[in-house]
Amino acid sequence: MCIETIVLASHNRNKAQEIQMLLGNQFHVILQQAFDIPPIEETGSTFEENALLKAKTVYDIIGLPVIGDDSGLEVVALNNQPGVYSSRFAGDNASDDDNIDKLLRKMHNIPTEKRTARFRCVVAFLGTSSDDQPVFFEGEWAGYIAKERRGKNGFGYDPVFVDLQSNLTAAELEPDQKNKISHRGKAMQSLKSYLGGS
Ligand code: IMP
Repeated sequence: MCIETIVLASHNRNKAQEIQMLLGNQFHVILQQAFDIPPIEETGSTFEENALLKAKTVYDIIGLPVIGDDSGLEVVALNNQPGVYSSRFAGDNASDDDNIDKLLRKMHNIPTEKRTARFRCVVAFLGTSSDDQPVFFEGEWAGYIAKERRGKNGFGYDPVFVDLQSNLTAAELEPDQKNKISHRGKAMQSLKSYLGGS
């Protein structure tokens, strides 16, 4: 079996582990810091722009297959906020808890039926096409925002994001359950099919 090395344009070890699990052992996922590339600022105004910005910056330096991804939460009642600002919703150095507190505060008088939300993930892949054109993959996860936190797993907005099918929050799901239905899981499955992984 030929193992293909793919560089993840990120410094996040947890994300690399998650993506390694999703792509399977036919692929070897390494982080950009293996090449001493400093973190890349996400200056785009869409998930697509940020995913491509990260992938292209790393690809232009090392010329190996690269994954750039960007993801976040869109809440319908908040005009799709926090979107690309998901990780810094409550400020530049905000913690996950700060971001959730701000979200629950902004939504305190919104009834359950109007708390619709979705997670979105866009992946830009560069490195196999002869003309250096990126290929994009996208995944979505439909749900709604709970009125209070439930569950201990995951990260980010997981404790308040309720999966529509099971009515469990993302933080109440086991990691392998989450990977099967999550926005990132779906985008990575599409990438895996594109790469010919089984
Ligand atoms: P990024 O894709 O690492 O830039 O993620 C941006 C932010 O979106 C994270 O810091 C989280 O706040 C939020 N987010 C993205 N995916 C998830 C998820 O699967 N669960 C919870 N929060 C997420």
